[in-house]
Amino acid sequence: MTAKRIDGKAAAQAIRERVAAHVADFERRIGRPPGLATVLVGEDPASAVYVRSKNRATAEAGMAGFAHNLPDTTTEDELLQVVLDLNADERVDGILVQLPLPNQIDAARVIATIDPAKDVDGFHAMNAGRLATGLDALVPCTPLGCLHLLRSELGDLTGLNAVVIGRSNIVGKPMAMLLLGDNATVTIAHSRTRSLNEVVRRADIVVAAVGRAEMVRGDWIKPGATVIDVGINRIATEDGKGRLVGDVAYDEAVEVAGAITPVPGGVGPMTIAMLMRNTLVAAHRRSGLKDPEGL
Ligand code: NAD
Repeated sequence: MTAKRIDGKAAAQAIRERVAAHVADFERRIGRPPGLATVLVGEDPASAVYVRSKNRATAEAGMAGFAHNLPDTTTEDELLQVVLDLNADERVDGILVQLPLPNQIDAARVIATIDPAKDVDGFHAMNAGRLATGLDALVPCTPLGCLHLLRSELGDLTGLNAVVIGRSNIVGKPMAMLLLGDNATVTIAHSRTRSLNEVVRRADIVVAAVGRAEMVRGDWIKPGATVIDVGINRIATEDGKGRLVGDVAYDEAVEVAGAITPVPGGVGPMTIAMLMRNTLVAAHRRSGLKDPEGL
């Protein structure tokens, strides 16, 4: 049996088109487009690539973009002031501070300073707490994208056994909360989990968010399971260019799973689509409008 390849690129494109239609409608009603501010500190090449694609997606959706590129010598106080200014700027509905930040800056303080209503990354404790207690929240983009793919693939998740590997605040924990909200039976595995292969083997849904190239092997997967691979790892190749792989050994897992996301082209594009979605939702809520439908 060969698993169905879940096309995250196509799913993301469909969401971005729906967002763009809502953006035009928002602008007609409110008199300005939704606005997203991105803040990049320093010159980490991977972060620069991510922020550039976020800025491009913002423009393509018809939203207003406010890009702030700060030098890597920026102090914590200087960055906090930029965030406070963005909090006060009525044209800005979403604020994204790209992580990681340089060592002299405490990321937790920066996240805590972002207005929770503009926290389109969903990292503020207010949004994490609202998600955990089942209230409307701005939810981290990557797990929200994973949930969207799972719902499209499986429909109702009620009663399914889901194993999330990884317990970060950015992916693993919010992913587990979202699955719980959809009535799955959720296990969170992490670096101290014993017999991880046996834990994974019980799962109808596997979400791997670890950051270790091809750690999850094909024989860990229950036949027919749905596998969502969040990992992005660059491995060396003979030509020196390197290659991106996920946390799951795709070539093995594809022979056992029912459906699986590739890397690249799976979860990655969904993250940016959900950032656009979150910015649109934040704009609606801040303007006293009902949440946009169909997203
Ligand atoms: P993280 O380093 O914050 O967390 C990794 C988690 O994996 C930890 O909770 C740890 O307990 C767990 N872990 C580590 N070693 C393990 C092991 N041997 N067995 C079981 N669990 C283990 O990373 P993160 O920010 O959650 O990201 C995870 C991966 O997802 C990374 O590869 C990252 O690049 C990728 N990522 C992708 C996207 C995307 O858009 N596709 C977004 C965010 C993160």
